[in-house]
Amino acid sequence: MTQAISLKTSQKLNLQPLNMPNRLLLGPGPSNAHPAVLAAMNTVPVGHLDPTFLALMDEIQSLLRYVWQTDNPMTIAVSGTGTAAMEATIANSIEPGDVILVGVMGYFGNRLVDMAGRYGADVRTITKPWGQVFSLDELKTAIETHRPRILALVHAETSTGACQPMEGVAELCQKYGTLLLIDTVTSLGGVPIFLDEWGVDLAYSCSQKGLGCPPGASPFTMSAKAMEKLQNRPTKVQNWYLDMNLLGKYWGNERVYHHTAPINMYYALRESLRLIAEEGIENCWQRHQKNAEYLWESMESLGLTMHVDKQYRLPTLTTVRIPEGADGKAIARRLLDEYNVEVGGGLGELAGKVWRVGLMGYNSRPESVDTLVDVLRQVLPKS
Ligand SMILES: *Cc1c(COP(=O)(O)O)cnc(C)c1O
Repeated sequence: MTQAISLKTSQKLNLQPLNMPNRLLLGPGPSNAHPAVLAAMNTVPVGHLDPTFLALMDEIQSLLRYVWQTDNPMTIAVSGTGTAAMEATIANSIEPGDVILVGVMGYFGNRLVDMAGRYGADVRTITKPWGQVFSLDELKTAIETHRPRILALVHAETSTGACQPMEGVAELCQKYGTLLLIDTVTSLGGVPIFLDEWGVDLAYSCSQKGLGCPPGASPFTMSAKAMEKLQNRPTKVQNWYLDMNLLGKYWGNERVYHHTAPINMYYALRESLRLIAEEGIENCWQRHQKNAEYLWESMESLGLTMHVDKQYRLPTLTTVRIPEGADGKAIARRLLDEYNVEVGGGLGELAGKVWRVGLMGYNSRPESVDTLVDVLRQVLPKS
C-alpha cells in the first residue's frame, strides 16, 4: 500500500440530529403507535436465539391466534411489512399453473393479481366498482365457473373503505376443494374476524394499522389444509425468505437460524398485541365501531358525505367524498403542513374523488375525530 486512499466525506451533507414532526396519522396507514409500544421498541435487544426471545416469539404466536380467532399452529410474524406477508401467502400456496380466483374491488385486489401471476398462477378475476363488495351469489357463480385452487379476497379494501362479508364463503370453497385466502391488513384488531369460524386457510396483516405498532413485522397464518398443500408440493417455494417450510423451523420446535429476526420490531408487536389482549379483542372491535360512527356523524355535520354504503363501511378506514369544487389535494396538504394532521387521498378509480380517513388502533379515539373536525372547519371552503 503506497498510495493513500482519499476518503469520500459526508461533510457536504451537514446533517442535524433527527428531528421529525409529530403528526396525527389519520390516513390509510401507518397509524400512530401507542406510546407503550414505542417504549417497548426502545428496549436493549437480545439475540435472536436467546431463550427469552424464543419465549417472546411463542407469546406473539399465541396473541396472534387470539386476535385472529384461530387455532392454526402455523401463525407467525413475517419480517417485513404487510406486503411481505401478502407475498408469503401467495408464495406458499401457489404452485405454477394453479388457478387462483381474485376478487378485485380496489387497489389491493390488483396487487394480489400481479403477485400471483409472478408465481406462475393461472389468475382469474372478478371485479366490482370501487366502494362495493361481492355478494355470495356472485362468488358462487365465479367459483362454479373457474373451479379455482385458491380464492383470494380482500376483507378490508383500504383503497375504498369497503368491508367484504365473509359469512358463507368457506362453504362455497369447500365444495370445490378451494383454499380461502384473505387480506386482513386493515381489519385485524379493528373489525371482527373469526378465521376458523369463517373457514379461512391463509391470511395476513400488518403491524401499523389496527394493531397500533410501527410498520415492520406482519402477521401471517395458514390452516392445516394449506400446510398440507405446501408439504405435498413437488416444487420448492419460489421465495427463499418467505418459505414457511424454512421459517417453520425457526418459529417451531427446531429453532434453526433462518434470518435475523428484527428483534425490536417484535418487542413492539408483542406490546401492541398485549395491549389488545388487555383491552379484550371484542372491546377493541367495539371501540373502532363506535369511533367510526362518531366520525361519520361528524363528517356529515360538516356537510360531507361517505362513499361506501353504511352496511359495508369499514370502521378502520372511511372514504369521505371531496365536496364539489374543492381541491382535495390542496386541503390535505394544508392539514399536514399547518395542523400536523395526515389524511390520505384517493387511489385508482377514486383518485381526486375522496379523502381516506383512518381511525386505526391507538388512533381510534374520539379525540382524533374532534381534532380532524376542528382542522377541517378551518380549511374547508365556506359555502
Ligand atoms: C396497507 C395494505 C397492504 C400492504 O401493507 P404494507 O404494510 O403497506 O406493505 C396490503 N393490503 C391492504 C388491504 C392494505 O391496506
